Amino acid sequence: MEHLVRSCFKTGGYVYARSASDLAARYGLPRVARLASNENPKPPSPAAIARGVLALSEVNRYPDETTRGLVEALRATHGDYHFVTGVGMDGVIETLMRVLVDPGDLVVVSSPTFSFYRLAALAQSADVRLSPRKEDFSVDPVSFLRDARGAKCAFLCSPNNPTGNATPPDVIDEIAGAVEGVLFLDNAYVEFSPYDYLPLLKKHDNLVIGRTFSKAYSLAGLRVGYAMVPEWLEPFFSRAATPHSLNRVSSAAAAGALTDTAHLQETVSHNHKWRQYIMDTCRYPHIASDANFVLFDVSPRTGDEVTGLLAERGIIVRSCTSFTGMDNHYIRVSIGDAWENELFVREINAL
Ligand SMILES: *Cc1c(COP(=O)(O)O)cnc(C)c1O
Repeated sequence: MEHLVRSCFKTGGYVYARSASDLAARYGLPRVARLASNENPKPPSPAAIARGVLALSEVNRYPDETTRGLVEALRATHGDYHFVTGVGMDGVIETLMRVLVDPGDLVVVSSPTFSFYRLAALAQSADVRLSPRKEDFSVDPVSFLRDARGAKCAFLCSPNNPTGNATPPDVIDEIAGAVEGVLFLDNAYVEFSPYDYLPLLKKHDNLVIGRTFSKAYSLAGLRVGYAMVPEWLEPFFSRAATPHSLNRVSSAAAAGALTDTAHLQETVSHNHKWRQYIMDTCRYPHIASDANFVLFDVSPRTGDEVTGLLAERGIIVRSCTSFTGMDNHYIRVSIGDAWENELFVREINAL
């Protein structure tokens, strides 16, 4: 019966990190350093947990379709923007593709980058074009704008996954002002960067900024994402979204997480300290990072080889060979707990 499946799902798909429990069982390891998914090693804020637990007692009712509580908390934190929410930023991206893309429409992706833009666009039968970054992984606005001509939507990630570097707001400003379609700016890691892109929203009615609670806010397991969108887009987004997709527990916990600014500050200062440590002490060259992970160039070894060797030693990192448009000699390493970062540096330097 497989002939019934659409061609876009016959191969490919999202690449997940190796499972820590499988690895521990296979090599008989007492503990495993999980440095492959850019999660926060710190547990969620007690305020997030308390709000989530409270919401659990009301799950006999569907959630409010506008996720009003969360949207109000987002407004209180970030300002008076138009917010949409979803099941992770992934869910927001998927809904946006449903709103914008008819079969054959052009979607452009600044690459190498996060894989899900392309997957979500292909699921809507888009024509996806990858626009290469420069050799140092910075964005060349001239070539990006040339590639984005005629596109319904252009994706740009800053700080970029997996390279870690951010694109300055003035470059985003230039690009947003010149593309004909929507510019989706993925800010999954913005809390770890020096840049504030929000002022650009007032200037551009084609700019969407995507954000997530999965990284700095320690809520990856609850799947909460959101975006600031231009006002015109909001009603269409609601119409295209899966009904009640963001559940009560997740949205209540996310609203709670926003109240705990100390949790965020500790997360960011831990990240900056250990990001500097692994950049300074790992013997392989790195790309300067504005995120909660660092890209290392492990040549002459390959990313797959180093990832395999580290796995045997109880450390899961991400080989970047599956990122389209990237050579095979890179690994991406998340900032973890102190012991994880120290173990990573010790073991990679001893390979
Ligand atoms: C993790 C990540 C996301 C997805 O976030 P979710 O909210 O967990 O779906 C989006 N974009 C980038 C670049 C990411 O690294």
